[in-house]
Amino acid sequence: MKYLSTRGDATPRGFCDILLEGLAPDGGLYLPTHYPQVDAATLQRWRSLAYADLAFEILSLYIDDIPAADLQRLCRATYTAEVFGTEAITPLKPLEAGVYLQALSNGPTLAFKDMAMQLLGQLFEYELARRGENLNILGATSGDTGSAAEYAMRGKRGIRVFMLSPHGRMSPFQQAQMFSLQDANIHNIAVDGVFDDCQDIVKAVSNDLGFKRSQRIGTVNSINWARMLAQVVYYFAGYFQATSSNDQQVSFAVPSGNFGNICAGHVARQMGLPIAQLVLATNENNVLDEFFRTGAYRPRGTAETLETSSPSMDISKASNFERFVFDLLGHDAKAADRTRHLFGPALASEGGFRITDVEFARIASFGFVSGTSTHADRLATIRSTWEQQGVMIDTHTADGLKVARQHLRAGVPMLVLETALPPKFADAIEEAIGQRPPPPAALAGLESLPRRFTVMPPSVAQIKQYIESHTAA
Ligand SMILES: *Cc1c(COP(=O)(O)O)cnc(C)c1O
Repeated sequence: MKYLSTRGDATPRGFCDILLEGLAPDGGLYLPTHYPQVDAATLQRWRSLAYADLAFEILSLYIDDIPAADLQRLCRATYTAEVFGTEAITPLKPLEAGVYLQALSNGPTLAFKDMAMQLLGQLFEYELARRGENLNILGATSGDTGSAAEYAMRGKRGIRVFMLSPHGRMSPFQQAQMFSLQDANIHNIAVDGVFDDCQDIVKAVSNDLGFKRSQRIGTVNSINWARMLAQVVYYFAGYFQATSSNDQQVSFAVPSGNFGNICAGHVARQMGLPIAQLVLATNENNVLDEFFRTGAYRPRGTAETLETSSPSMDISKASNFERFVFDLLGHDAKAADRTRHLFGPALASEGGFRITDVEFARIASFGFVSGTSTHADRLATIRSTWEQQGVMIDTHTADGLKVARQHLRAGVPMLVLETALPPKFADAIEEAIGQRPPPPAALAGLESLPRRFTVMPPSVAQIKQYIESHTAA
C-alpha cells in the first residue's frame, strides 16, 4: 500500500514513511492510494476475532512495511483488557430500543483518544528502534490530547514528550492525570497564558526548521494517518456486536470536532462496512454541520469559537476535513487539483468555500447527515438518559445522542460513540442531574502523588532552551 497527498504529491510512500510525519510536503494530508475492499467472506471471518486480532487484520491491509508477526505483537500489546477494562475493548451498552452506546473511553485517560494514541505509542517505539532514532514530541493541549499522548508515550524508549498546557486552566482531574506522571521522558510545561499561546509556541518552534531538525521535533496531532487507521477498527467491532449477519446495516453517531473520529467511520464505509448513516454531531461550534447542510465551509477565527460544556469539540477549523473533501471529489489527480485550490487559495482569500451543487449532491451517497447540539440540549439529554436508562453520559456523548435521535431509522441500530466518561466533565453533569459522577478508580491515589511540571512564561526562546537542555544525551 502506498500513500498520496490530498493536494497532489504522489511520491510513492509506505506506511512507515508517513508514520512519523505530519502534513505532506505540499501541505496536504496523507491518504492511501485506494481503500481495500472487504468482502462478505472476510467480514464473516472477522466476526469472531478478538479486538486485537481484528485490529491486526485491518491494519495489515494498509501496512506492508512491518513484518506481520511484529504488527500482530504490537496490536496484542496495545488492546488488552488490562488497559481498556474489558475483553471486548469497545463494548456496546443498550439504551432505548435500537440505540446503543459504544464505549470508547475505558482507556487510561477516560476519553476515546486513547484508542488510537496507545497504538501510536507502540508503533513509534517500534519504528524508532528499527531506525536507531529518537523523537521529541512537542504538543499543546487544553486537556484530552495531551494526557492521551503522555499515557501512550510514558516510558517508551527513544521518545520524549514536551507538552505545553495553559497554567491553571485545565480541570483539576486533567491536571492530576498529567502532572502526577513520574516518568522521566514526560515533560509537562505549564505556560503562563491561554491555550492559543501554547499552540502559537508549538507553531513557532515547528516553523524553525533548523531547530526542528537538530532537536528531532515531532507531533502526535490528529491528522496523523496511523491515528485515523486505529480508529477504523472500532467501527468494525461495533458493527459485529450490533448485528448477527452481514446483510444488516448499522448507523453511527459521532461527536465531532476535528473530523478525525468520523473520518475513520467514512474510511470503514468506503472499505465496504455496511454503514447506513454517519451522523455527524457538533456543539455550538457547528462549522461542519453547516457544511453538511449547505455545502459551504466557513471555518471560524479563534474569536468566534465559543467555549462550551463539550470543550473537546470547540474547534474553529476541522483539521481532518480535507480528507473527506478529497474523497467526495473523486480521490484522484483531478480531485487533488480542486482540493489544493479549495484549501489553499480559496480559504486564504475568501475565508471559506462552497462546493458546487453537483458535488453537494454526492454527499448523500457517502451516508453523511448532521446536526447541532447546544448546552441546553446536552443537559436535557444527560438528564433524560440518567432518569430513563439509569446511564450517566458525558457532555460530548450527549451531543452525539441528541443528534442521533433526530436520525433514527426503523430496523437500523444506531451506535452512538461514547467519546469520554462523565468524571472528566463533572460540573456539567452536576448541573444536569444534581449530583457529581463518582470519581473514577483510575484517579484514586493520583491526587497524593508528587506533581511534576514546570511553569514557564509564553516565551518561544525560553521553551526552546528548555527543550535543548533536556534532550542533551
Ligand atoms: C477529541 C474529542 C472529540 C472530537 O473528536 P474529533 O476526532 O476531533 O472529531 C469528541 N469528544 C471528545 C471527548 C474528544 O476528546
